[in-house]
Amino acid sequence: MSTQALSVVIVGYGGMGSYHAKLILDNKRLKVTGTYDVLAARQEASREDGYPAYESYEAVLNDPTVDVILIATPNDVHKELVITALQHGKHVICEKPVTMYVKDFEEMMAVAEEAGRVLMVHQNRRWDEDFLIIKEMYDKKTIGDLFQLESRVHGANGIPGDWRHLEAYGGGMLLDWGVHLLDQFVFMIDSKIKSVTSRLSFILGDEVDDGFDAVLEFENGVTAIVEVGTTNFITLPRWYVKGTEGTAVIEDWSLTGRSVVQNHEVGKIEPKPIKAGVGLTKTMAPPSEESTLTEALPKAYEHESSFYDNFAGVVEGTAAPIVKNSEVLRVLNLIENVFKAARTREVIKDFDVYEPKN
Ligand code: NAD
Repeated sequence: MSTQALSVVIVGYGGMGSYHAKLILDNKRLKVTGTYDVLAARQEASREDGYPAYESYEAVLNDPTVDVILIATPNDVHKELVITALQHGKHVICEKPVTMYVKDFEEMMAVAEEAGRVLMVHQNRRWDEDFLIIKEMYDKKTIGDLFQLESRVHGANGIPGDWRHLEAYGGGMLLDWGVHLLDQFVFMIDSKIKSVTSRLSFILGDEVDDGFDAVLEFENGVTAIVEVGTTNFITLPRWYVKGTEGTAVIEDWSLTGRSVVQNHEVGKIEPKPIKAGVGLTKTMAPPSEESTLTEALPKAYEHESSFYDNFAGVVEGTAAPIVKNSEVLRVLNLIENVFKAARTREVIKDFDVYEPKN
């Protein structure tokens, strides 16, 4: 393993670019040595933070001391910036969504292949603890086989920022948050998606979606319900999952949650009818306390390394990428079909470019 840290220049020193700089401070294998941003104010911010600001992108590309270019600009310029970086012999980390269309990413992958350089997409929410708890439950069947997983992120603050409101920049919430939630399912569930339906929401009157919901059906029988909302003053749980032995919920980012499973120690106890509204029901009565066990959520699945360490390992040839470009391509194809399902109001089938994981 090389002892010298890889020199990283961040291109686009806005919200996420400057956050990368902070995160990389704790990493021994990568070192931020400079930034480039089209805005003078952001160049100034970079200098104030202690990172030299390049005057032009060409200057970054032509600097032989730069090993890695990290792209954190708005989505519409990712493709061009990534391709020129690779053609100048740089390794590349690119923010999500890597680009908006499958055909563009195919071109980018071909250039990386030709240049013999690493291109890895920052699908960082594969490292989110809430997701990794659900992945552990899915893999280890802690509440039986999970057959329905509902993944939601809700806010009440509308579409953030400026460029995210505009289609030309790759704005909208499906491309912004949807790409993360869909990526988590593609990473976790080793099965072909057999159909998708979806609806986009335009409550705020923007030209791009301010949220969406989508239902994915996998060939292995799993159904995923994915929802992103920016007009939700009351939020639904981050995760609600049903297994053949029980149900689990993760309420929020603080990981408040629980699972309730069948208690096999006691036989089935008939629930007592409850008054529901003006009626009476046994069907919808909660299970009796004796017949169920309420358990804490399991410990989260652990990746073998952080995103940045994994990237450094891939560059050094000592690790396989945790975020594989074939999976990123699959997510982009899925997103194209989520848009299509919403536009046509049809159930879209036979589109998934699934490859079994092992
Ligand atoms: P932002 O608007 O805060 O920052 C973008 C910066 O890029 C701005 O400073 C802008 O001046 C600069 N820029 C624009 N065009 C440029 C160019 N051609 N060359 C150099 N600089 C240029 O946006 P943001 O919220 O930081 O988002 C940037 C990217 O990061 C997007 O792709 C977004 O989806 C992604 N992002 C990822 C996460 C995550 O958790 N993975 C979170 C937020 C944003």
